[in-house]
Amino acid sequence: MDTNRPYWNMEIEPLLNTPEMKKIQFDKLKKMLTRLKANAPFYTNMITKSGLDPDKLKSFEEFKDKITLFNKEALRNLVMDCGGDILKTLEQIMPVSVDDIDYMGTTTGTSGIPTPYPLTRRDIDKIWGEVMVRGSWRAGLRSHDRVLYCFALSMVIAGVPSLVGIQNLGCMILPVGAEAKSERILLMQALFKGTVYTGTPSLAEYLIEQSPKILGKPVGDLGFRALVCGGEPGAGIPEVKNKLEKAYGCRLYDSGAGFGFSCDCDEYQGMHWLGDDLCYYELVDPETKAPVPFTNGAEGEAVFTSLEGDGMALIRNSLGDIHKIFTNPCPCGRSGFRYKVIGRSDDMLKVKGVMVYPSGIKGVINEFVPRVTGELRIVLDERPPRVVPPLKIKVEYAEGTTPQQLEALAAEITESMSKRIKINPQIIWVEHGSLERSTYKGKTFEKTYENKK
Ligand SMILES: [Zn+2]
Repeated sequence: MDTNRPYWNMEIEPLLNTPEMKKIQFDKLKKMLTRLKANAPFYTNMITKSGLDPDKLKSFEEFKDKITLFNKEALRNLVMDCGGDILKTLEQIMPVSVDDIDYMGTTTGTSGIPTPYPLTRRDIDKIWGEVMVRGSWRAGLRSHDRVLYCFALSMVIAGVPSLVGIQNLGCMILPVGAEAKSERILLMQALFKGTVYTGTPSLAEYLIEQSPKILGKPVGDLGFRALVCGGEPGAGIPEVKNKLEKAYGCRLYDSGAGFGFSCDCDEYQGMHWLGDDLCYYELVDPETKAPVPFTNGAEGEAVFTSLEGDGMALIRNSLGDIHKIFTNPCPCGRSGFRYKVIGRSDDMLKVKGVMVYPSGIKGVINEFVPRVTGELRIVLDERPPRVVPPLKIKVEYAEGTTPQQLEALAAEITESMSKRIKINPQIIWVEHGSLERSTYKGKTFEKTYENKK
């Protein structure tokens, strides 16, 4: 096989996001619905009730019209219906038996029941691993590469499934895992000279500080020629991407939130969607759940339907992520539409009918560092998503900023927000260091409505 070919999968990848692919997807969708109707009791019931006949399905529109969304809440209800028995629940929604499952991943379950990710060996090889290899190939990884694998190995997809899947590329895996902590990770790197770092962007950032202390040299001298990041946002934030690429002296690739992998452009273009043949991707309005037309620049809640898969055969499943899509050609010239994760449907705010996400607000505020610290709180006097304008934002001014400069600075920030995210907020200044720092997940909201009785 030609190791210079543009794609790992020359049969499928040139067809991504083309009318020809739509036909393949439609045939696969009918097959998947037929299979689920025949083998998964939850879907037998749901598809029968919907009035949809998989054999006679006319269009994607008919599918979207008749099948309602499945989300975390729907899963929670189903688990309750099954008396809290998660294995029994899975038998309801999988076209295979629990006995066929080879790997069970779960999210940590910050809100109650952990979400299960049951996978068969085929799912790992032909779906998650396949996409990982497609992306890695585009990032220039080949069989002679050595991959320092630094995702926590218990991570649901980025952990063991991706580690096993990426072996299809034939490269050497150094499975150290984030559990090993930075000292051992760096020592492994010094010994085995990995050519690719795979892990979260925050760990990559932490190693910048640790490498000189532990190995006596900067990360730029460790021999990496690519960073493959994922598992959390960050790699798509321009400041983080620039910082990491500069420190390591190589390209950073962002992966995850579905079947996405970013490309070799200096400026982040979003992640190319590499899984059209494996999963049908659509956008819906986060409030009404009505389909959003698939056009360049469209925004909405991402909804996934599996076109292949045993353990995780999902039909119109939402993880609550809000994406912005780009269907025009990418400067890199590679196939696949692109998407950026811009927020969570739970975090959405509506100010005078305009949808706003904390990530958008943070993006604007971050541009004013070092005049501000970058810490902020969005003050909510009423239960979201609706906000009575103006939206109040507490912003920390930096140590070097004088009280006399604040009024003009607030005006600059407001103007930038008005231009970029179409809101006119009220900036409430607070002193540097006065907002509580959190090491886990940054606190975003100050919910004053919770104190009102
Ligand atoms: Zn690209």
